[in-house]
Amino acid sequence: MDASTDVEPRKERDVLGLPVLLLNRYFSPVTVTSARRAFVLLYGQAARAVDQKGDTHDFEGWRNTPVELDDDCIPIVGGHLRVPRVLHLLRYERTPRFTVRLTRRNLMIRDGFQCQYCAHRPSQRDLNIDHVVPRSRGGVDTWENLVVSCRSCNLKKGRRTPVEAGMALLRQPHVPRWSTATQILLVARQPYQQWDQFLKAG
Ligand SMILES: [Zn+2]
Repeated sequence: MDASTDVEPRKERDVLGLPVLLLNRYFSPVTVTSARRAFVLLYGQAARAVDQKGDTHDFEGWRNTPVELDDDCIPIVGGHLRVPRVLHLLRYERTPRFTVRLTRRNLMIRDGFQCQYCAHRPSQRDLNIDHVVPRSRGGVDTWENLVVSCRSCNLKKGRRTPVEAGMALLRQPHVPRWSTATQILLVARQPYQQWDQFLKAG
């Protein structure tokens, strides 16, 4: 993953912060946790590590699986312990539904990086977040009152409502309902290839 030629090994602290995909008992994605937490779950027999082939291993078994080229490892007595990419929670049955966090990035994704007034898709730099009902008029920061808008539409609209400005919205802004898998993919900066098979259903 790292293209640098420095041979300095990755610090153990960083390795323990690597993301691990958690699956529920039915192999549906639940969330992403840290390697640190994953080892606690694995060691405590609440979960099994899932290898590239889809086989699952308890802590002892996992400790004895050979280290592969692109593995991240932590040094342990007598060798190395691979950081699992995927963990199967043995007793967890639920599929939690998350509320999507109201962030600039998530608004951009919901609106398809498209100005909701003129339908243009300029570069992300030239997109703003617009309060449909302006803040100065009592508009609040909610999914329903925030849309992506290009700079010129933003400027044109000013402190007016769309009706006052004679500008129609492409679609009514709403709270997004993204599946757990979608959200995991959106949040993870570098999802591992091994996650694909468990996330593609979402
Ligand atoms: Zn526009």
